[in-house]
Amino acid sequence: MTVTPAHLRALASRAEALTTEVRALCDSAPNGSPERDHLAVARQAADWLARGAEDLQRAATDLARLQAQPCGLPWGVCPEHGNTLSSSAGVSECRVCHRTWNHDRLGRPCREPVTWKVIDRARTETRMCDGHVLGARAAAEGATFIRLDQGGVRP
Ligand SMILES: [Zn+2]
Ligand SMILES: [Zn+2]
Repeated sequence: MTVTPAHLRALASRAEALTTEVRALCDSAPNGSPERDHLAVARQAADWLARGAEDLQRAATDLARLQAQPCGLPWGVCPEHGNTLSSSAGVSECRVCHRTWNHDRLGRPCREPVTWKVIDRARTETRMCDGHVLGARAAAEGATFIRLDQGGVRP
C-alpha cells in the first residue's frame, strides 16, 4: 500500500475528534466534584492527542511535497491540450492555443506535476500530468484513470 497524505490527514482528523471528545467528557464532570479533580491526567492526554494531530498534519504536508514529482514522460505536451505541440528551430508551439516555449519542449522529458495515475489493461501503472493524460485517454483503451489530489488519491 502506498501511504498518501490523505491517509495521514484522515488519522489527524480522528485524533482531533478524539481530543474534542476527551475534553468534552472532562468538562461534563460537575465543578468541584471529586471526578473533576481526578481528570487532570485525562486532560493531559487530550493535550497529547492535539499535539499528535498537529504532527500528523505536518507529516501529511511533508509527504505531499515529497510526492509532487514531475511527470517525466520522455516528450513534452501542452499542459492544457496534450499532444498538440510542434517544434521547429528550437521553439515549440501548441497548435490549439498557440502558446510557445522557447526551447524544444516536445523533445524533452515532461516536467509538469503528476496529477493522474493511469492503470492500463495489463495493470501497469503510470503517473502523468494533465497534458499527458489527454493523449493517454485517446490511446489507452480500457485503462483506468485516477485523479490524484495533492499527492493523495481521492476516494
Ligand atoms: Zn495548448
Ligand atoms: Zn507530462
